[in-house]
Amino acid sequence: MPDAPPPERFRTFLILGAPGSGKGTQGKVLGSIPRFHHLACGDVFRSLDTRTPLGQKFVEYSSRGELVPDDVTVQLWNANVKQRVDSHMFKPEIDFLVLDGIPRNVEQAKFMESHIDVLRVFHLSCPDRTELARRLRKRALKDNRFDDANEAVIQNRFATYEAETKPILDYYAGDRIVDIDASQAPAKVLYDILAGVMTLDAWKELEKMKI
Ligand code: ADP
Repeated sequence: MPDAPPPERFRTFLILGAPGSGKGTQGKVLGSIPRFHHLACGDVFRSLDTRTPLGQKFVEYSSRGELVPDDVTVQLWNANVKQRVDSHMFKPEIDFLVLDGIPRNVEQAKFMESHIDVLRVFHLSCPDRTELARRLRKRALKDNRFDDANEAVIQNRFATYEAETKPILDYYAGDRIVDIDASQAPAKVLYDILAGVMTLDAWKELEKMKI
């Protein structure tokens, strides 16, 4: 085990894209590779007991295709990531954090600034909303996602993405943004993400460590 102290801010990759762009698919695969720890905000919300006030809030907002308010979202995220660090599931001194679904607007990005050092933002881009809606309808059936089953909710989620989430790209503007064509096969999207990871100095340093 290396003796390096944990970094002040988590070394982080963001996966950003419209609903259906494949953030979760890529996040899961990356998270199964040693030294990448995947955290999907939507999964954290879905794991809440829907009888609790927070669980009810999630159902209320997500069923309309809206974002859960920022204060509760960021609090929940903080608590969840702390649990993962305390239980050594996520080891900040040697792992990269792969975030999917958070931050979801500029306000959240600002709140999280003191916790995460964003090394790359992988933007899974797919202007073809018909293709994304097709993927969501398929997922609704397979994964029992109530927020993907209704056409009006799907359209509202796209509108929320355009208005609230996409501006994050300007917030992090610069070399950190990697645009990836999300209509490609999942394996090719993964290949493009890994190519973006492997040009980083932080990656090269990690590669030298024997863990
Ligand atoms: P997808 O992968 O299709 O984009 P998610 O599973 O990430 O969807 O999120 C499902 C729902 O959970 C969102 O529509 C939203 O209501 C809520 N949610 C997830 N992450 C956040 C967040 N960071 N801020 C506010 N609401 C969120």
